[in-house]
Amino acid sequence: MKKRSLKSQMSLTIALVVFITVGLISISANVLINRQFKSYIVKQQQQETNELIANLSRQYDQDSRIWNLPLIKSIGMYALYEGYIIKVSQPDGSVIWDAEAHDMSLCTQVMRDISEQMQRNYPGMEGQFTSQNYDLVQGDQKVGVVSLNYYGPYFLNDNDFQFLKSLNIVLLGTGIFALMMAVAMGWMFAKRISMPITKTVMITKEIAAGNYGITLAKTTKTKELNELVDAVNHLTCFLKKQEELRKRMFADVAHELRTPLGIVSTHLEAMTEGLWEPTKERIQSCHEEINRITKLVKELEELAKVERDQISLNLQPVQLEKLLQTVCDNFETIIKNKDIKLQIHGSTPKVLADRDKITQVILNLLSNGIKYTPDHGEIDILLEELDQFSILKIRDNGVGISSEDLPFIFERFYRVDKSRNRKTGGAGIGLTIVKSIVTAHNGKVEAVSELGKGTCFTVYLPKVKN
Ligand code: ADP
Repeated sequence: MKKRSLKSQMSLTIALVVFITVGLISISANVLINRQFKSYIVKQQQQETNELIANLSRQYDQDSRIWNLPLIKSIGMYALYEGYIIKVSQPDGSVIWDAEAHDMSLCTQVMRDISEQMQRNYPGMEGQFTSQNYDLVQGDQKVGVVSLNYYGPYFLNDNDFQFLKSLNIVLLGTGIFALMMAVAMGWMFAKRISMPITKTVMITKEIAAGNYGITLAKTTKTKELNELVDAVNHLTCFLKKQEELRKRMFADVAHELRTPLGIVSTHLEAMTEGLWEPTKERIQSCHEEINRITKLVKELEELAKVERDQISLNLQPVQLEKLLQTVCDNFETIIKNKDIKLQIHGSTPKVLADRDKITQVILNLLSNGIKYTPDHGEIDILLEELDQFSILKIRDNGVGISSEDLPFIFERFYRVDKSRNRKTGGAGIGLTIVKSIVTAHNGKVEAVSELGKGTCFTVYLPKVKN
């Protein structure tokens, strides 16, 4: 099927709608005007005949019993040009003045002209010349009779036809002008609507080709089009971020794997070539590096799982106190060994959460707290409540994080002190997982820290709505 552009489709539709509307208005205006005009003409003719009869009646002088013949003649001739053929007679039937007798050829000419014109313009009307007699009276006395011969039931003279013709021309002219204006404006309107869409299509193609640097400008005042522009810009931004993330992820993973793999490779090479004795310590060191790689891969798997499952959270009302207690129990031995004082304060209403995922959040935060707090330190867990959120705070008085590092700790593979972390074994993924999970719950996580004094992580989770 042939595809038409939005602009031509809109212009055509608008033109068609206007054409039909103007057509309908013109037809109904025409019908209405014709009907009104017809009734006006009938009334007008009635009035004309009445005036004619009254005028003729006045031409008789009762005292001298004489008709004013010259005036009757001029009234008759005037009436003839208006389409009335008159014959004035005495009450006894004797003719005073007869238009046909006066000028037969003119009368025939007038009759023929009117008949032709009426039949041409009103072909459905079965009209013909008919004559009617009216009494000419003065006071109570009948002074004569006039026979009026005219085209009935009504007729239009030249002036009337001229008037109708002008009216039709005005109507037609207005219609054509309105149509032209509508087509022009429709075309302009269609152009205004279609231009940003065409532009958006072009830019979307660019984006699809991987060019994420472009942003669409809002050039229209149309709300929906501006929303479309916003949506496309938002999409571009999102795709750009995803692309950057993907590239960084590859680079980060490669970087993280390179060091332990390098160590294992050089150690094994030296041992196989006989440069190094395969001592227990050396084999153990290789084993540690392989463990590190395994741990990294496991954490990556976990992160991938969290990001994949973001859309499928198994949400249910969860009591945070209970969950906390279970997680703390897991760390009992290590807490005892490090002689850390751990306390839980406060309580909070149930949150709407995925139990397993939130357990993971507490586990990661608490394990960090324990990991980065020296022996005999303190960890406080506080439960608080806000309007829509339940708050979980995990506060330690451990090593703390510098203000330069603090903004980046939730980023993937970000570790504050690489050497320290090689010892503690973290790959910088734990907090990324925490943030992913909390964000998926429509919550947020914040960190406040001071180097050497301790760190406090605050997690906001939406409360169960009553
Ligand atoms: P890791 O597995 O290395 O601990 P995380 O993503 O959990 O990775 O943490 C990122 C970095 O943030 C860590 O390397 C650590 O330096 C810092 N960090 C996290 N929690 C704490 C804490 N409670 N005290 C001090 N530093 C912390």
